[in-house]
Amino acid sequence: MSLYFPKQNNDPASAATAVLFLDRDGVIIKDCNYLSDPESVELLPGVGDALVRAVKAGFKLVIISNQSGIGRGYFSEDDLLKVQLRLDELLAEFGVVVEVVAYCPHAPADNCNCRKPMTGLVDELSEVLSWSPKQSFMVGDKVSDVELGSNMGVESWFVLTGHNSEPDKNLISKLGAQIAIDLSAVVAEIVSKEG
Ligand SMILES: [Mg+2]
Ligand SMILES: [Zn+2]
Repeated sequence: MSLYFPKQNNDPASAATAVLFLDRDGVIIKDCNYLSDPESVELLPGVGDALVRAVKAGFKLVIISNQSGIGRGYFSEDDLLKVQLRLDELLAEFGVVVEVVAYCPHAPADNCNCRKPMTGLVDELSEVLSWSPKQSFMVGDKVSDVELGSNMGVESWFVLTGHNSEPDKNLISKLGAQIAIDLSAVVAEIVSKEG
């Protein structure tokens, strides 16, 4: 498991912070299946402005991503980093900086403890970033994302911008998650809730 810190401004001693935990593919960028080409990184509509709004409301942004393409031998960690740098570039046009990107590079057969919905990445992150479960949210486009949110004890949102635009509503609600069209809709909801 690896953690990639774009910025070294995390202060573990600071008060617990509100975090918007985000899946990457199908939430922030178009899901291209095993994306390894920086040229193919494409922000989904409204994402830049939504993240600006979330940051203004006090959220730190953390990406939690399963990247089994590495474990399966489809691409390297270096490819993943290049994709991330391209994403950073696109977000920088909005003045948005992602605090931490945490990814699981394992294949399902590796039986690691960091592949979503398991909490290994978040557990490790918690050692360096003090975050508040009550004020934090998880957003994803797969059941494993909202299941992770449930395992973390945070409110989760399932967005319809990935490959699954008709999720099993019973399952989603059983996991305590809600459904929203896209990230903009989620941010609108949680920001209004924060008042
Ligand atoms: Mg996804
Ligand atoms: Zn893993």
